[in-house]
Amino acid sequence: MSILHVVSVSGGKDSLATLLIAIARFGRHRVIAIFCDTGNEHDEVHTYLDYLEQALGIAIIRLRASFDDEIAAKRRFIANDRRTRREYKTEPVFDESGTPVPARDGRGRIVTRTVKRGGVIVEEAVQKTRKVGGGRRVRWTNKAKRRALAILQPTGNPFLDLCLWKGRFPSRKAQFCTEQLKRNPAVEFQLDLVDAGHTIVSWQGVRRDESQNRRDALKFERVAPRMYIFRPIVDWTAMETVAYSTARGMRHNSLYSQGCDRVGCMPCINAGKDELRQIAARWPEHFARISEWEDLVSQASKRGFPPSSIRSCTSRAQAIGACTRLTRWLP
Ligand code: SF4
Repeated sequence: MSILHVVSVSGGKDSLATLLIAIARFGRHRVIAIFCDTGNEHDEVHTYLDYLEQALGIAIIRLRASFDDEIAAKRRFIANDRRTRREYKTEPVFDESGTPVPARDGRGRIVTRTVKRGGVIVEEAVQKTRKVGGGRRVRWTNKAKRRALAILQPTGNPFLDLCLWKGRFPSRKAQFCTEQLKRNPAVEFQLDLVDAGHTIVSWQGVRRDESQNRRDALKFERVAPRMYIFRPIVDWTAMETVAYSTARGMRHNSLYSQGCDRVGCMPCINAGKDELRQIAARWPEHFARISEWEDLVSQASKRGFPPSSIRSCTSRAQAIGACTRLTRWLP
C-alpha cells in the first residue's frame, strides 16, 4: 500500500507552513490534512480552515473526540458507589531533635525511593507521615450523586464532555486536554490508516524554540511499525514560518492580528496574561461560555466548585478563575 502524509492543522502559522511544505513535496493527492476540533475554538479558526480548503484545493478532515462511553461509565460508578474508605490529610513526622523520622515497611525496614538530585540518581529514605484530623469519606454523598447524575450527560462538545467526565477543567499542571482532545483522535485516525495497510508519516508543525518541552524535539523519528513523525520546521523561528507562508501568497489567521499569540482553544490554559486581557476585552462571550461550563462541571463533580459569580459580580477573574485559573490576572 501507499505512503500517506498526514498533516495536523491547527489554524496557526506553524501548521500552515508545515502543510505547504508537505503539499509542495508530495502533492495534494498524497497529503491528508486533519484538524482536531476541541469544541472550544474561536469561530475564526473554523472560518480560516474553510479559507485554507478553498485556497489550497484540499479537504481538511475534522476529528472530534467522544467521551460518551467514559461518561456512561462514570454515571454507573457514581450510582453504585458504596465505598467506606476515608481520605486523610497527612503531616511529616520528626523526632525530638527535629530530625525526620524514616518510614518503615511491615518488616521494620526503612522505605526508600529513587530520586534525581543535581543530575545524579540517588536512593533516599522516605519520611514517615501521620494522619491529621478525622478524614473525609471517599464515596459520593447521596446529595452529590443526585446533583451529578442530573447533569452528567454527553453534550456533544468534546471540551465540555471531557471536563464533565473528569469533574474538573484542565490546567497547566494537569494538561490532559491536549492528549484527550488532540493527540488521541489524531493517533486513532492514523492507526486506522495503518490497519488499512498504509505507511503513515505524521507531519507536525513543532518548533524547538517554542518551549522548554520542545527543545529536544527530533526532526524525524519512527514511533511504531509503519508510523513515522516528521517535523520539517523544528529548527525554524516563528518569523521564518510566517515569511514562508506569506511568500506563497497565504493569508494568516486573523486572530494573530487581533492580539492572540497562539491559535487554539479560546482561551487556552497556556495563554499568557496579555493574551487573556485581550480575550476578555474583545470576546467577553467566550468568558460567559466558560462560566456556564464551569457551573455545569461544578454540579457534575463530587465536591463542586465555589459558585460562579460572573453574572452578579464585577470580578470576572474571580468567577472563572475558580476552576480554570485562566483569568486571575485580568483587569
Ligand atoms: S492546551 Fe490549550 S489549545 Fe491545547 S487542548 Fe488544552 S486548552 Fe486547548
